[in-house]
Amino acid sequence: MENILTLTSLTKKFGPITAVKDLSFSIKKGNVYGILGPNGSGKSTTLGIVLNVVNKTSGEFTWFDGNTSTHEALKKVGAIIERPNFYPYMTAAQNLKLVCQIKGVPANKIEEKLDVVGLLERKDSKFRTFSLGMKQRLAIASALLNDPEILILDEPTNGLDPQGIHQIRQIIKKIASQGTTILLASHLLDEVEKVCTHVVIIRKGMKLYSGPVDEMNASHGFFELKSNQNGALKEWLSKNETFGNVKEEGEKVIAFLTKELDEESLNRQLFDEGIVLTHLVKRKESLEEQFLQLTNKQN
Ligand code: ADP
Ligand code: MG
Repeated sequence: MENILTLTSLTKKFGPITAVKDLSFSIKKGNVYGILGPNGSGKSTTLGIVLNVVNKTSGEFTWFDGNTSTHEALKKVGAIIERPNFYPYMTAAQNLKLVCQIKGVPANKIEEKLDVVGLLERKDSKFRTFSLGMKQRLAIASALLNDPEILILDEPTNGLDPQGIHQIRQIIKKIASQGTTILLASHLLDEVEKVCTHVVIIRKGMKLYSGPVDEMNASHGFFELKSNQNGALKEWLSKNETFGNVKEEGEKVIAFLTKELDEESLNRQLFDEGIVLTHLVKRKESLEEQFLQLTNKQN
């Protein structure tokens, strides 16, 4: 599949702070990517670097086939990385007309793009009368005016009410379904789960996981166990390489699998060790549990 953007060992230092550390991933055409990480994990810095507004410290990024200069490539990119900023006393359509002039693109796309974001009937309303959600939708329309190959959004639903959040997510999905590649940064796991096909999870500027969202859901899962010998149980699980993280939650012992293992085999193995279970359930982790596990691991 065609590469849109490739990051190779990208690093950014702000004095003593390493905001992005040795980050590598690639964006392929037609997918919806989420950069997911807690606040301060380096998402905005990463987007800033590839959009040429933040200077990298080291590493590389290449747009498209690798032969396109960043300046040329950015003409095929639509991005919203700051709060939407338009002229308050001008209408939606007038503001977009101005953007067309600045970007040097024909004005005949204005109505089409307003329609995509559900603002066509408000095209003659002044920007200052818009809700925050409508302002954000206008910003998306503006970023789409040059029919970009990729749309980049930084925390697109921050500060919006639930209805506004839902509208923005629907719009992102619609744009993606029409073939535009999307890269969005979010600290919200459920946003990435609802909107994205692929995820890059970062923490402290470092990549923890990257891959399809559904593959992440399809990991080996975990066991929820109880016995009257939880100490011995935990010790046995910790020594067993079939299990990764083992932790106690109240009376239960939670053991995450690193490979396939069914309930019956585990029960038999433990019984042979003299450990009798009073409770055994196998579960798949939700993406949320995996995200928390991944981001908490290296405290
Ligand atoms: P995120 O978007 O994931 O919340 P950022 O990329 O904004 O994270 O920030 C990553 C880290 O870099 C944070 O520790 C932040 O304080 C720091 N940082 C970001 N921009 C600057 C800057 N201009 N000067 C100094 N430190 C910065
Ligand atoms: Mg940010």
